[in-house]
Amino acid sequence: MKIELTSGDITNERVDAVVNAANSSLMGGGGVDGAIHRAAGPDLSTACRGLRELWVDGLPVGRAVATPGFEMPAQWIIHTVGPNRNAGETDPALLRSCFTESLRAAEIIGAKSIAFPALSAGVYGWDMAEVATIGLAALSSYTGPVTLARVVLFSDDALDVWKNAL
Ligand code: ADP
Repeated sequence: MKIELTSGDITNERVDAVVNAANSSLMGGGGVDGAIHRAAGPDLSTACRGLRELWVDGLPVGRAVATPGFEMPAQWIIHTVGPNRNAGETDPALLRSCFTESLRAAEIIGAKSIAFPALSAGVYGWDMAEVATIGLAALSSYTGPVTLARVVLFSDDALDVWKNAL
């Protein structure tokens, strides 16, 4: 799988699937989650309410589920719940799982290209360098059918951190 690092707004990505840094409720929030919900339009909330009928207690940390992309350029959105460091969720395996489970979700829907944000590096309080190390380790050891992973950073500083980690 080819790995590309770039800066920009992930909602503009023309990949098969964009990964959302969701929370367990799947009902939207700030940061990437809010931007994705605005870009996808109101049908995304309806789809997420439907998912909550399957995940009545919310989507567990480290898991990933897909919905359509609705009004976004990407065909799919893969919602994953990163560990919240501010709530004491400090296990790197949980963050790695977000990357690997998102790739698994991409395989199930047949997505060949995927874009990730810096999962857990915002409101959830993880250090950007740590997220980069864990994320790149997960992406670079992937051997399945997804051919392209783009990591879309929201600032040039964040992009530099990921470039150094790579
Ligand atoms: P979390 O709750 O998992 O920490 P956040 O959405 O708060 O998720 O932040 C994750 C990262 O995404 C942060 O580095 C933030 O700057 C970045 N980010 C916020 N909005 C966007 C966007 N539209 N596109 C790409 N990255 C974004």
